[in-house]
Amino acid sequence: MGAPAQLTLRERRSLRAAVLQDLDGLDGQIASLTRAFDDIVAANEQANTDDEHDPEGTTIAFERSQVSSLLRQARDDRAALRGTLDRIDDDTGYGVCTECRGFIGIERLLALPAAAKCIACARMSR
Ligand SMILES: [Zn+2]
Repeated sequence: MGAPAQLTLRERRSLRAAVLQDLDGLDGQIASLTRAFDDIVAANEQANTDDEHDPEGTTIAFERSQVSSLLRQARDDRAALRGTLDRIDDDTGYGVCTECRGFIGIERLLALPAAAKCIACARMSR
């Protein structure tokens, strides 16, 4: 058995930068989804004052559920990334596969900073 895999300071720094960049993108995405959601709600209120049997009503309801599920997903991702940021700083087990306890690998972590499993285990559990 070799020494346990550890992230170098440089790798840790690259990972932090990658996560912060992802968080930036998510913040923008959440802001525009929130605007879209507000627009749909406003349009819906307007539609309700018109005809109850307005066929637009169903389209609006569909759009609203689409946007709200995207919004939920984006917020979950953001929460996961924030947790990841803490885990990168804190040295306890970040980058270690929760399944086989092997090192996840810097390339995979850079592509998917919130990854909890190495690529082999992730493939197996799919
Ligand atoms: Zn594994």
